[in-house]
Amino acid sequence: MKKKWNDYLWIAELTYITLGLVNILFAWLGMIFFLTPLAIAIFGGGKAYCNHFCGRGQLLNLLGSKLKMSKNITPPKFLRSTWFRYAFLTFFMTMFGLMIFSTYKVFTGISLEQAVTLLWTFKLPWMWADVSAVAPWMAQFAFGFFGVMLTSSTLGFITMVLSKPRSWCVYCPMGTMTQGICKLKHGRELPSDERGCEKDRGVA
Ligand code: SF4
Repeated sequence: MKKKWNDYLWIAELTYITLGLVNILFAWLGMIFFLTPLAIAIFGGGKAYCNHFCGRGQLLNLLGSKLKMSKNITPPKFLRSTWFRYAFLTFFMTMFGLMIFSTYKVFTGISLEQAVTLLWTFKLPWMWADVSAVAPWMAQFAFGFFGVMLTSSTLGFITMVLSKPRSWCVYCPMGTMTQGICKLKHGRELPSDERGCEKDRGVA
């Protein structure tokens, strides 16, 4: 089948991570990946982002299927359960809220912490970053948000290696949120072609 432009969005995902490593302020671009799926789901596009435009999903598929980095086994049952999806979403959004609160504290005058936190635990010193061009709170948000993006990419990579290529999609907070929006709007499960089919959720 002939490739379309959106089959190459994995390049955008890779470029984002690379740009963020080079200059932390590029982390702000990640807001595009954060807001676009929500906007598509809210304004009637259903799960189109998961199905057609998610660079991370494509990249995991590429690494796992084409480069054969995945064990390609079904993810554990708990990972596929509804309670785990929503528990992980709750945890993820709580940590996101704390990141926003840290940004607010810097906005009110507390000094900037020049580090990226990986997996909500490991503080990676990021002293080489020159953030003098922007307000300290903008830099703090960039460190915090890049930590969120690196953490979710790391979890996606680990899950890809240990089970199926797109097993991250089983519990991806963005996938859960867009699915939740679709359920609220339609009051029902969407047909598989609109929904981010079970294959995309890593369980087929
Ligand atoms: S579930 Fe998450 S990673 Fe998977 S396609 Fe959707 S937004 Fe992308």
